[in-house]
Amino acid sequence: METLDAIEHDKVDLESALSRLKASHKCHVGHLSWAEVAVRAYLSARAAHEARQHARGRPTTLPVRAQWTAITWRESPDSRGATRYERTAWGRRYASADGAERELWLLSVNSVKSDRPPAEIAEAAAVMVSGVPSQSAPRDVFRPVAEQVRPRHVRVIGVGCGSGEHEVLADWAADEADRQYSAHAKPVLARVVEADQLMPGSSCVRCEGLTGCELPHRAPGILGVPGPRRPRARRSVSATDLRVHNLCPAQFHLTRVLHLKSGAPESLPIRRGRAVDEWLNLRHTEGCCRDAPLPESLPGLATSELPTALAMLSEHQRACPLDGLPPTERVRVQQRLSAYDPELDVVLIADPDLLYTRAGGWIWHETKTAANRPWEGRALMESYPQLAFAVLMMAAGVLGGDPRRSLIELEVLYDDGSRCEEIDPGDPDTQAEARRIIAALAGPWAVDETYAPRPDRHCDGCDVLAHCAAGRTHLETR
Ligand SMILES: [Zn+2]
Repeated sequence: METLDAIEHDKVDLESALSRLKASHKCHVGHLSWAEVAVRAYLSARAAHEARQHARGRPTTLPVRAQWTAITWRESPDSRGATRYERTAWGRRYASADGAERELWLLSVNSVKSDRPPAEIAEAAAVMVSGVPSQSAPRDVFRPVAEQVRPRHVRVIGVGCGSGEHEVLADWAADEADRQYSAHAKPVLARVVEADQLMPGSSCVRCEGLTGCELPHRAPGILGVPGPRRPRARRSVSATDLRVHNLCPAQFHLTRVLHLKSGAPESLPIRRGRAVDEWLNLRHTEGCCRDAPLPESLPGLATSELPTALAMLSEHQRACPLDGLPPTERVRVQQRLSAYDPELDVVLIADPDLLYTRAGGWIWHETKTAANRPWEGRALMESYPQLAFAVLMMAAGVLGGDPRRSLIELEVLYDDGSRCEEIDPGDPDTQAEARRIIAALAGPWAVDETYAPRPDRHCDGCDVLAHCAAGRTHLETR
């Protein structure tokens, strides 16, 4: 955004702006590589869109520096004690010279986000229709910097900075935008301002209220490692984060923190694993899946890829953990769990496949699909640090319940069988082993400030190889 601001608002030419970007020491070198691609892709998409608009006889649009803020005033405080509401829409702004047309570009990191709900698109359009050009300052309201001219026409454009594709999400007259707002966005906004339940998770990382909040569950020292030498911003961490950081710190930073993806098709084991997980999760929201008819197709899998996935599903059905569970027990599918270590200022995140109660204790059930028997001869928690993570979270009391009746189950599905392993999170030896495994992974993660690449076999097929010179050199010279 800073580089695009320089180009669009300060009229710095593209190559100078990119040289300035690449000379920056604020970001990881892979981040800079991606940013250059993103800036070029964005500007090409903008140029292509403008050319098409021109061909349709629409006026040229120019970059707008000021935010658009839709402001609602009240004389007396409402039931929440508020007299002023401000709504903004993050993105890049453009308007025709006479202000009659406004355009907002919504950027996503990889491809165009295809699942934006109608409420989000309607709200973006509504902010354009009623937004006053304004400026923000810390701890101040948005101050208007120009008079509001109600546009006659607004457009919402989605753009993928990685793929360079763009898509017109809304192209509406102002009155149509008003109608869309009333139908889709307004009811959602009403729910948002009324909602007061706590939903701890990765958003706690940016929450200013965390220190005074009753959630997430406090677990001081849970990772068993010292913090960084100098203070740094609060972070979240999951078992997958630690596993990827252990493999390659650069891959961790680019894929897990910045969420970059290559756009290349995912491998069959990954697609199959996800398809199996999703089908099971959906069934388990209704209870035991034993008698559910197998699907005729699964999302992301070709017909020829289906038989193995179906074989895995029927292996699960023969031993569904919810089979015979009394209706009084609680079942939670894919519930996000979190814990907060105030000493390290880290929010721990886990998404168990399935949680259910049994006779007063909680069972944490993970399902994996595997083509071969991966952990033969290796300790289970060593192969799946996720299980060690689960032990620490359960031992810290994140789930509550009777710890002596609690259990972690790992179900591994093959196409010709399955295997279920149990781990007792209350066992002191198991806890010590889990602490050792997680501390070994978390130690280097907690103090890392450079995220250097660690080239190895995993470079082949790495999602961020395009932004990693070390990885490409490794593949060329091995
Ligand atoms: Zn099941």
